[in-house]
Amino acid sequence: MILRSIPFALLGALTLSSPVLAQTITTGAQVTTEDYRRQAQAEVARLKADRPITGRARNVIIFIGDGMGISTLTAARIYQGQKLGRDGESFTTAMDSLSYAALVKTYSHDAQVSDSAPTASAIMAGVKARNDVIGVGPEALVSNCTQLKDKTIPSIFEFAQGSGRATGIISTARITHATPASTYAHTPQRDWEADSDMPVAAKAEGCLDIARQLIENPVGAKMDVIFGGGRSAFLPSSLADPEYTDQKGRRTDGRDLLSEWSRSNPGGSFVWNAADFAALDLKSNARVLGLFEPDHMKYEADRAKDKGGEPSLADMTRAAITKLGNKKTGYVLLVEGGRVDHGHHAGNAARALEDAVALDDAIAAALGMVNLRDTLLLVTADHSHTLTISGYPQRGNPILGVVRDVDGKVTKAKDGKAFTTLGYANGSGAVEGVRPDPEKQDTGAVDYKQQALIPLSGETHGGEDVAVRASGPMAHLFKGTIEQHTIYHVMREAMR
Ligand SMILES: [Zn+2]
Repeated sequence: MILRSIPFALLGALTLSSPVLAQTITTGAQVTTEDYRRQAQAEVARLKADRPITGRARNVIIFIGDGMGISTLTAARIYQGQKLGRDGESFTTAMDSLSYAALVKTYSHDAQVSDSAPTASAIMAGVKARNDVIGVGPEALVSNCTQLKDKTIPSIFEFAQGSGRATGIISTARITHATPASTYAHTPQRDWEADSDMPVAAKAEGCLDIARQLIENPVGAKMDVIFGGGRSAFLPSSLADPEYTDQKGRRTDGRDLLSEWSRSNPGGSFVWNAADFAALDLKSNARVLGLFEPDHMKYEADRAKDKGGEPSLADMTRAAITKLGNKKTGYVLLVEGGRVDHGHHAGNAARALEDAVALDDAIAAALGMVNLRDTLLLVTADHSHTLTISGYPQRGNPILGVVRDVDGKVTKAKDGKAFTTLGYANGSGAVEGVRPDPEKQDTGAVDYKQQALIPLSGETHGGEDVAVRASGPMAHLFKGTIEQHTIYHVMREAMR
């Protein structure tokens, strides 16, 4: 049982003849037949020692890497290992250390390739829905408010609160963005984050904007911990943002939802910067709302430059687990690495991978705090992206670099130019005209856009399966290939 929490690299260090094998090889040249056998035998021993935990999950922690498809998992693993000066290909991330895995079908009710709204709703509410809708069933039509009633589907957070558990949501995206919204909101249009995003008719027909639902809906109002971005949807157009005083709120109904939240939670704390976040009293049961940007929080690669300072995803995860852990009846927590998706949409792999590593850091932090005998911890993605890892780069080749073959020579395409290992099928990285030679560019720069095939203003989601990986009670039910909405039902089974 102890083996469960030991990352493979460390396990390797304990059992392999070359104690630092997994950490030091860069080309694989020093590694012998015997080393690979021992490495695999150690893995088999770990797999055999892993016994299903069939008890009840007091706590459930759902990690979602938005857009974190399989190619992102692999690229981020190599990136993380290489950043630490280790062998990237054989590196073991915190998410790699989880015990069980399944492939997950991500199509939505009406689309082969889905967006985050129906996929997050599938995970949180247990049914598929149409693209662009949140917290409703497949019968609900996009942007249609007249027939929304009785098509709303309760989320796992509503169930958790009903069972007396504490609840928390964390996202590096706007807290009104599709994934976090799927925990507390029901809407036929994911874009209706503030009232100013909505057509007059939709308001007249009784639809509520997502920010208002977080403050007013029973599930949103009962959230014990909320950390994310997206202040502007909560502030009126008459009020300046606390951090960027030249910016105003986006609400046109005149309401200041942040003050309203503070009034309904007299003992609670609203924070918007890193210093106030660090000063939060995590021992109390009082609610906390932290919104650290008017829009999405910064990419991890840019976080240090933020004016007011922002906590990392791992910081927020630690704070949330500490606070929610005060309630002895258990908790359900969502932690979203929301901007892996945005890096990819921008055709910018460096930022996407940096954010995937930040999510992995948060998972490592959680694994260090929870007991997997009573906590189901799962990691998945809502959907994939068009990122590819291609060519035949040699072991140890920088993951953001151009392809060098096993002899160390730059591989040339038919046009005599190099190409990067990472690329996108479409997006703004597509070159119209003659493509530049990546060998003459700084492909490792944080702003570098990988070349793409089809010119689109934004890179799109990918439709292949994603992974769900898990440890803890009922984690062993994640096996084979499953429907995305089955994830909800496994969580319910674990929380029974
Ligand atoms: Zn997206």
